[in-house]
Amino acid sequence: MKILITGGAGYIGSHVAKQLLETTGHQITILDNLSTGSTATLDTLKRIRDFTFVRLDLKEFDKVNILLQDNKFDVIIHFAASIVVPESVENPLKYYMNNTVNTTNLIRCATDAKVEKFIFSSTAATYGEPTEIPKNGIDENYPTNPINPYGMSKLMSERILQDTAQADPNFKYLIFRYFNVAGADINRVDGKLSPRIGQSFPNATHLIKIASECAVGKREKMAIFGDDYPTVDGTGVRDYIHVDDLADAHIKAIGYLDTDPSDIFNCGYGKGFSVKEVVETMKSATGTDFKVEIAKRRAGDPAILISDNSKIRTKMNWVPKYDDLGLICRSAYEWERK
Ligand code: UDP
Repeated sequence: MKILITGGAGYIGSHVAKQLLETTGHQITILDNLSTGSTATLDTLKRIRDFTFVRLDLKEFDKVNILLQDNKFDVIIHFAASIVVPESVENPLKYYMNNTVNTTNLIRCATDAKVEKFIFSSTAATYGEPTEIPKNGIDENYPTNPINPYGMSKLMSERILQDTAQADPNFKYLIFRYFNVAGADINRVDGKLSPRIGQSFPNATHLIKIASECAVGKREKMAIFGDDYPTVDGTGVRDYIHVDDLADAHIKAIGYLDTDPSDIFNCGYGKGFSVKEVVETMKSATGTDFKVEIAKRRAGDPAILISDNSKIRTKMNWVPKYDDLGLICRSAYEWERK
């Protein structure tokens, strides 16, 4: 098959590209504007197996159209997006343009070029700030109510995909709503973890990335945003999923759409860890210590976000391999050390 990965030089996109290059014979094209994606990552991927790289911004509608017309892709896996929540509040139009408008054009070009499968990276941010978390976590039927332009830009894209598939019987989509993605390539050399790719996004704001920067000494200290939430120890609780398990779901999605209808799946382990638990695990799993301060809550942070992942487990037979917070922390740490 011919597969286009947009945003393939980025964090999650590159882990999906890695698995496709390593475990399948599909012909891969990566599209990226390299605004945050990394050329070093592309070089590493090239050493696994060759692929075509197209440096292009999705806002160049005509060029995107020509690329799709010329190539006749069977599948598009669409990651390219702006992803910083606070920035989306300050600059909403950037998010609606980069995420919603560019995705709409990509879908239009895809249907024009008779692409049959479209796999889309969405987010648990589409659920907003859940008032009450069901006992087994948030399932796909939980009401969506994004509280920031980032979440809304993704939810609007979801709707556009659904409407398009409704009108075009030859077009199928699979939407993944990611919970907290973390960690780096599980690759071992002489039995030791040695990630080849990882999260290179500059000025990262994510907890495990920041804790790993502290663990390797790139940062002197970190803050816990709020210890007065109604949770086990007062700090925010999240569902952390290893990026390679998430990538695996995308690979499965390609075959799934051969036989099954378009659908939406949550992607998480269905287990929550508090900020304090994550920080302690980073320290103990890596044998490091660093300074941690309690700060006030960060605006817009819900207390608890945990997925109910029974749908993806039963319908897609997705079985996570790295459901281990210590391993997630160690892989992030080993990547940060490189
Ligand atoms: N967090 C924190 N300190 C940091 C970064 C994050 O205490 O330096 C907390 C944040 O308030 C939330 C959890 O860690 O409760 C996960 O945040 P992250 O930014 O990783 O992901 P989000 O859930 O916001 O998408």
